[in-house]
Amino acid sequence: MSQTSFEIQQAAVIGAGTMGRGIVMCLANAGVSVQWVDNNPQMLEQALMAVAETYAHNVRQGRIDQAEADTRIARVSAAADYATIRNVDLVIEAVYENLELKQKIFRELDGLLKPEALLASNTSALDIDAIAAATRRPAQVLGLHFFSPAHIMKLLEIVRGAQTSPAALEAALALGKRMGKVSVVSGNCHGFIGNRMLHPYVLEARKMLLEGAYPQQVDAALQGFGFAMGPFRMYDVVGIDLEWRARELAGKGQDAPEVQIDNRLCEMGRFGQKSGNGYYHYEPGSRQAEHDPEVDALVLRVSEELGFQRRDIGPEEILERCLLALVNEGAKILQEGIAGSAHDIDLVYLNGYGFPADKGGPMAWADHQGLADIHQRLLALETRQGDQWKPARLIGELAAQGRGFADR
Ligand code: NAD
Repeated sequence: MSQTSFEIQQAAVIGAGTMGRGIVMCLANAGVSVQWVDNNPQMLEQALMAVAETYAHNVRQGRIDQAEADTRIARVSAAADYATIRNVDLVIEAVYENLELKQKIFRELDGLLKPEALLASNTSALDIDAIAAATRRPAQVLGLHFFSPAHIMKLLEIVRGAQTSPAALEAALALGKRMGKVSVVSGNCHGFIGNRMLHPYVLEARKMLLEGAYPQQVDAALQGFGFAMGPFRMYDVVGIDLEWRARELAGKGQDAPEVQIDNRLCEMGRFGQKSGNGYYHYEPGSRQAEHDPEVDALVLRVSEELGFQRRDIGPEEILERCLLALVNEGAKILQEGIAGSAHDIDLVYLNGYGFPADKGGPMAWADHQGLADIHQRLLALETRQGDQWKPARLIGELAAQGRGFADR
């Protein structure tokens, strides 16, 4: 196996769904030829048409000329099976979020591809080492986590498995650069940097709905802080049903009080923007989130059924709990070495999660507040609300030394 970095000239993408489509365009735009596989031929056909349509749209907008559109389209071809893609330098897998399925695909590809080829997964959260273990080339396996829509969002999380080689990382970083991405290397943990931090942030938002807030209020507070979207508008864009289905598939987590509102929305077919209704209402063809009193009534009903005594929750509390949840998890990610620096975490949040640019990212924001102050505020939350607010060890250490995350 080669230990020197090599340039990726030919790639294959497995999966022609939402993410596969964007990833294919990222590669084609960067001059990489792409062979595309999906086990559903109809899906692949639709996806090829969607890509052609996106380029035609870019031409109409004057962003590229027809010749450039033709060149990019010519770089993309449908492949009938894995044998057809045996000579590529890189495969990016973007099939359903299911570990066994991904392992099966990696095992099969490992047996066919040249030894130096890289195998990447676009998984949002799954264990890269468990995927790599299905192959005999774990040094050549890594995560390439694109954000939706992949051809537009700047962020690329490059996930380093326990055995990923420096050469493989280097090749991925070089590719990220060619695609014009902001690449951040993350260690392997559930959700990597971005989605791992999102989890406690969203959990607080969901808890506040049960305790007395309404979706619009939570979103307004965070958007007032400068976020591009509050968490519930974000869920409407992503699709509330994705996590619902994942919980169903995994057979766990469906009973937690915090997800009961999501569950009810999904049972009603309110999956978000794509179904015209989610936490908000959308007029046909519109992406404008409109307040829906039916959702407020549902929030009230579910929290009362669960026995909550509702109380007024103001924007200060919403910001405090959501932002400190982000910062505390970010600190854990830093102390565990999952992120190389606080700046990397900030890059993830600025480029992938709509964190306000003028605040510099969650870790820079915390530094600006002062870590001694953040530490006190986390302790106060711990006293009021329990263990989940226990400050990360790193925050206490840095606060005691009068230092910030950026001084580490
Ligand atoms: P999707 O459901 O839109 O598309 C999945 C595609 O995979 C479908 O076209 C399906 O036909 C195809 N497929 C399924 N099994 C296959 C197989 N055995 N061989 C070949 N093709 C197969 O899914 P998506 O939203 O594009 O997500 C794909 C991956 O990207 C998941 O791991 C997901 O977690 C991750 N991801 C999704 C998002 C997002 O916002 N949607 C963001 C980042 C990462």
